[in-house]
Amino acid sequence: MRVVFVPVTEVETEKKPVSQCEASGCEEKRLFESTYCWRHLSEEGRKSYVLKIKDIVKAGKGLAGVNLSGIHLPGADLSRANLSGADLSGTNFSGADLSRANLTKANLSRSDLTRTEISMADLSEADLSRANFYRTCLFGAMLPWANLSGSNLSWGNLSEADLSSANLSRANLSKASLSKTKLPRANLSMAYLFGSNLNECNLFEADLSMANLSEVNLLRADLSRADLFRANLSRAHLFGANLSGTRLSGANLSETELFGANLSGADLIGANLSGAELTGANLSWADLSRTYLLYTDLRGVKSLKGVNFAGAILPEGFEELMAQLEAKKTDPKDPDYSAKK
Ligand SMILES: [Zn+2]
Repeated sequence: MRVVFVPVTEVETEKKPVSQCEASGCEEKRLFESTYCWRHLSEEGRKSYVLKIKDIVKAGKGLAGVNLSGIHLPGADLSRANLSGADLSGTNFSGADLSRANLTKANLSRSDLTRTEISMADLSEADLSRANFYRTCLFGAMLPWANLSGSNLSWGNLSEADLSSANLSRANLSKASLSKTKLPRANLSMAYLFGSNLNECNLFEADLSMANLSEVNLLRADLSRADLFRANLSRAHLFGANLSGTRLSGANLSETELFGANLSGADLIGANLSGAELTGANLSWADLSRTYLLYTDLRGVKSLKGVNFAGAILPEGFEELMAQLEAKKTDPKDPDYSAKK
């Protein structure tokens, strides 16, 4: 019996899930109420799509959870828009108004948000990793638990914003304004903060290990129990700052202004304090073992009670200074006698 081979032609075309862009070979998600992704929309298609989105926002309708990834909306008025949980990754919002917008849990990773107005917006738990916020205003914005790792926030305004427990590791915050910003338990490890303003900032238990804080203003900032392991604080201004129980081991504090700062119980093991201004500073029970103090003036220090100087590189006249303090303590006529008891 002869076997006849019938050639089988594969006529079945690839079946795509309805959520995927219709363009052949594209694996991107479809844009909200479109059959294509942004990349595969025509020039005309993009123009009408942008107008449609603007109309939806203008009508006060929400865009929660929708996919708008990659779209270009520079200069758009999106104030008070509801974009919570939306996929906005890789979008261009430069110069747009997103003030008071709801962006909770939104994905804005790798987005262009340069010179954008985002003040008073809610960005709680949003993914903002590697986004560009150059010269952006985030004044008073809510950002607890937001992911800002590797983002560019240089020259931005983050004053009075809430960044509690936010991830800012390796972020660029140079020349940024962070006065009265809430950063308790935030992760700022290896962040670059050169020349930024952090006056009266709350950095309680924040992780600033290996961060660059050179020439930063931290006046009256709360850094208690923060981790500043091997951080660079050279020429930083910490007038009246709270550094009680702070980890500063291996930190660079050369020429750092610590006038009236509270360093009680701080871990300064192996830190460099050469040329640091310590007038009125409280160093009681601080650990200064192996600390470099050769060019440090300790004469105006408010308290050296219980300090551990084991293995420290001490300044000239250190023995006399300690003897003087000892004599002061036992002299009832000294005005500091009762306070030092
Ligand atoms: Zn596509």
